[in-house]
Amino acid sequence: MIVIKGINASPGIAIGKAYVMEDEEIVVNRIELPKELLRAEVKRFKAAQKATHRDLDAAEGKVLKVLGKQHAKLIDAHRLILRDALITQDVPKRILNECVNAEFALSEALEAVNQQFEKMEDEFFRERRHDLFDVGKRLLSHLLKQSKKSLSDIEYNCVLIARNLLPSDTLGLHETKILGFATDLGGKTSHTAILAQSLEIPAVVGLSDISRRVKTGDHIILDGDQGMVIINPGPETIAKYQRAQQKSLQEERALEPLRGQPAVTLDGKNFKLEANLDSPEELKTIVALQADGIGLFRTEYLFLNRTVPPTEEEQVKAYQQAVKALEPKPVVIRTADIGGDRLSQLGIEGPKSETNPFMGLRGVRLFLRHTDLFKTQLRSILRASSKGKVKVLIPMVSSIGEINGVRRLLAQAQAELQAEGLDTTGKVELGIMIEIPSAALMLESFLPLIDFVSIGTNDLIQYTLAVDRINEHVTHLYDPFHPAVIRLLDHVVKTCHKKDKWVSVCGEMCSDPHAVPLLVGLGVDSLSVSPRMHLRIKQTVRALRYAQMNKLVAQALTASDSEQIRRQLADQGL
Ligand code: PEP
Ligand code: MG
Repeated sequence: MIVIKGINASPGIAIGKAYVMEDEEIVVNRIELPKELLRAEVKRFKAAQKATHRDLDAAEGKVLKVLGKQHAKLIDAHRLILRDALITQDVPKRILNECVNAEFALSEALEAVNQQFEKMEDEFFRERRHDLFDVGKRLLSHLLKQSKKSLSDIEYNCVLIARNLLPSDTLGLHETKILGFATDLGGKTSHTAILAQSLEIPAVVGLSDISRRVKTGDHIILDGDQGMVIINPGPETIAKYQRAQQKSLQEERALEPLRGQPAVTLDGKNFKLEANLDSPEELKTIVALQADGIGLFRTEYLFLNRTVPPTEEEQVKAYQQAVKALEPKPVVIRTADIGGDRLSQLGIEGPKSETNPFMGLRGVRLFLRHTDLFKTQLRSILRASSKGKVKVLIPMVSSIGEINGVRRLLAQAQAELQAEGLDTTGKVELGIMIEIPSAALMLESFLPLIDFVSIGTNDLIQYTLAVDRINEHVTHLYDPFHPAVIRLLDHVVKTCHKKDKWVSVCGEMCSDPHAVPLLVGLGVDSLSVSPRMHLRIKQTVRALRYAQMNKLVAQALTASDSEQIRRQLADQGL
C-alpha cells in the first residue's frame, strides 16, 4: 500500500480500479497493434485528416474576416501539406507495415521530414517546417481527442489518473464511469478543480508523479477531502473508507431541512445565498436547493470542446432555460472568460504558447478583440432577459476603457434588437467582476458606469499574491486569509456600499466554511456558492453573529500575517 499526498481539489471519496490516461502533450507512445485492427487504425487516421480539413475551413473564414485575403493564403499552404503524400500515403503505410498506432506513425513521418528540412541551407524553406508541424499538431490533437472520447467507452467504474486534465477534458467526465480523478499537476482553485466540484467528482491534484506510479488496473482509494491517494490499499483501509463514505452521505442528508430557509445570522442579518452554475446539469440541483438566484452563470462550457462558436439561438436557449427555471429570482450571466487554463478550440486566443496565459488574452480582453462573438453573447443575454430577471457580468476587467467598450457593444446590441422588434424592454443590469487589484483600487471611478459588483476571489487572490492558481508548487502561498486579500475585500465592499451598489462574492472562498465568517463580517450582500456546498454554507451563516464577525474583521484588518487572522478565528471557535 502506497499513500501519496496532494491537494484536495474536489471533496468526496472514490474507490475503484485505476485507469491511467496517456499524456498526449508530452509523449506519443508506440503501441503495437494486432493485424486485425490495422485497417480500423488507418480509418481513424483518415477521420482525423477530415476533421483537420474542417478546422482549416473554419480558420480560413476567420482569417479572411480579421486579416484579409493575403493571410488566408497561409491556410492554402496548410491544405497542401495535408494533401501531401507524406500525410496521405506515408502515414497509412507506416501503420500497416510497422503495425503501430496512428499517432506514432504520424510523429515518425513528421520527424523524417523534419530531418530533411534541417539540412536545407535556405532559411525560408527551413522555416516552412513550422507549417508542417502546425498541421501535424492539429492532426495529432484530433487523433488524441478520439482516444479521449474513449473515456466514455470504459465499461467499469474507475479512478482516472492523468498527468493533467484541462477544464475542457473535465466537462465530459460526468458522462463516463469515472468515479474520481488524480493528476500530477494542478491547484485547488483551477477551473478543472471547480468543474470537478460542480460535477460532484472527487479529485486530488498536484500529486507530482502519480501518473507514473500507478498502472491501469491498480486498486485506488482517492480521498478528495484530505487530498490523498492510496494505491493498492489493504482490506481494512478499504472498509474504513467505505464507512467514511456512508458517514458523509448521512451528514449531507442532515442538511436537507435547510432548503428554503433564509441565510440569516443569529442576530438577524440577512444574506442572499446564490449558486454558481458551471454546467447545465446543475440547473435542476440549484432549483431544488431553492437558492436565491444564480450569482454566477459560467458560460464557458458553451464555448469549449468545439471549433465553431455557439450560435445566438443556442445561447438564448441555454440562458432562457436557466432564467425561466429561476424566475423571479435573478440570474447573473457572465460573458465567457476564455483564455488562461480554459483554452477553446475556436482559434481565437493568443498563441497557444502564451508564456503567462493567466496574464494574457483572457475574459473581456479577448472578447473586446472578437466583438462579433461578444456581441452575439450580449444579444443572447438580452434576449433571455425577456423571460425573467437577468444581469450581465463582465470578467477580468482592469480598466475603465474596457467598461466603456462593453457599454458601447451592449448599447449596439440593444439598439439592434429593438430595430428587429424583439422584446428587451426590461432593464438588464451591468456588473463587473473584481478579480484584478487595479479594478479593486479604481472601483470608485468605475461605479457610476455599472450597477453591481461581484468579487471573484479565485483570481483576485492569484493576482494580488502573484500566485498562479493552477501551479501546485506555489499552492502553499495561495492564501485567502492573507491580510492583503482581506484589506482589498474590505475596500471593495465599503466603496460599493458608500455608493449604494450591490456587492457579492462568487469565488471559492464562499464555499469554504472557514472563510465565510470573514465574508459575513465584511457585510457583503450576497454569497454565490457551488451547489455542492450550498446547504453547508447556509448552516455556517446561520450559526454566526454578524456583529461579532464584524468586530473580527476589524481585528483582521490590523493583522500583519494570515496566521494571526487564523488564530483570531480559532479563538472564537471558528
Ligand atoms: C473567480 O475568479 O473567483 C471566479 C469566480 O471566476 P473563475 O473562477 O471562473 O475564474
Ligand atoms: Mg475568475
